[in-house]
Amino acid sequence: MSDAELVLRSTRVITPEGTRAASVAVSAGKITAVLGYDAEVPSGARLEDLGDDVLLPGLVDTHVHVNDPGRTEWEGFWTATRAAAAGGITTLVDMPLNSLPPTTTVDNLRTKQDVAADKAHIDVGFWGGALPGNVKDLRPLHEAGVFGFKAFLSPSGVDEFPHLDQDRLAQSLAEIASFGGLLIVHAEDPHHLDAAPQQGGPRYADFLASRPRDAEDTAIAQLIAQAKRLHARVHVLHLSSSDALPLIAEAKREGVRITVETCPHYLTLTAEEVPDGASEFKCCPPIRESANQDLLWQALADGTIDCVVTDHSPSTADLKTDDFATAWGGISGLQLSLAAVWTQARRRGHTLEDVVRWMSARTAELVGLDARKGAIEPGRDADFAVLAPDETFTVDPAALQHRNRVTAYAGKTLYGVVRSTWLRGERIVADGEFTDPKGRLLTRTS
Ligand SMILES: [Zn+2]
Repeated sequence: MSDAELVLRSTRVITPEGTRAASVAVSAGKITAVLGYDAEVPSGARLEDLGDDVLLPGLVDTHVHVNDPGRTEWEGFWTATRAAAAGGITTLVDMPLNSLPPTTTVDNLRTKQDVAADKAHIDVGFWGGALPGNVKDLRPLHEAGVFGFKAFLSPSGVDEFPHLDQDRLAQSLAEIASFGGLLIVHAEDPHHLDAAPQQGGPRYADFLASRPRDAEDTAIAQLIAQAKRLHARVHVLHLSSSDALPLIAEAKREGVRITVETCPHYLTLTAEEVPDGASEFKCCPPIRESANQDLLWQALADGTIDCVVTDHSPSTADLKTDDFATAWGGISGLQLSLAAVWTQARRRGHTLEDVVRWMSARTAELVGLDARKGAIEPGRDADFAVLAPDETFTVDPAALQHRNRVTAYAGKTLYGVVRSTWLRGERIVADGEFTDPKGRLLTRTS
């Protein structure tokens, strides 16, 4: 470790082989060695002794709506990446919609990259979008470095990002499969949504009934069929319905190239606890009952669900009205995702290693960044979160770095205080103090 510039030492370092006392050597932004706890620190290297705080790989959040440019009053690269850093996230991948323009052409991607470039406190990559009529743009976007393509199978909530019907889904997916790309899908079937009772108003039970499980289950079954037929690689976004789990498990057993994510809100909040009119809890698909949540946890444990991502999708407070039918659908959770998931995971007997696997290793793998991110081992970027896992805090919206501080987690007591976050060997936030932005823009090919 003679070339190390920095050594991070902790009694609890989470590595792919498990948690152990170790000293992690860093040089030129990369992890160069994971050594014994008592390893000699080379002369000239700075020792950072973290005591019993846990050193874990920085989280990789592959589902974030930054909304910049165009709806910057909802969020923005500056605020989103600071919130992410404060929550232990060191890489995010931005969704192609809710910004204006959406990321559906190479020109639009360039616009977004230009906006993000000097505001990113953490590393940022981009998803492209698959819309009706942009099949010709998919390959150029792939070559320009987007990590894959998002499609909706039902209305997205914004007019500039229309959904794909089954024929158009097949066209886009065939094109994406032709260059070995990845399609990520918001899977709710529009016909089942149309057939569901659309009561409107402030009652959460009415909103839940308007987004039934079978809308998800049907869309996922159709997606599996298309993926199988085209030998394409697909990913189910924000799974909420536990009824779809047997379908997914069966598809995986058959060798269909499908992965699945779920989100902190489905894993930690329940329909039973949502007060009427509290649209900070509104998202699509919706937060469901606690029995449904138990099955999502089981599926994470057995690998049917691969990973956990925030789906951070904020808006301004005025759009969060008390009518669930018309309020903006999206939950803001970037800064709180690690603590929220860890709090529930520990209660259910899961380890911090499990959480790291779901929120860092597997998400890095999903986007092909697993040679650089997602683990503490030599050769990877020196991206870390330092966590006090047994300390608690109570969520105070005023302490959030999100541009809009509307949150479904207000007042909750969570385990896991992020002491500091490190990007390529530099401490980018500690105790609420941030450095200047040091994030880089990532592409699939860089
Ligand atoms: Zn989303």
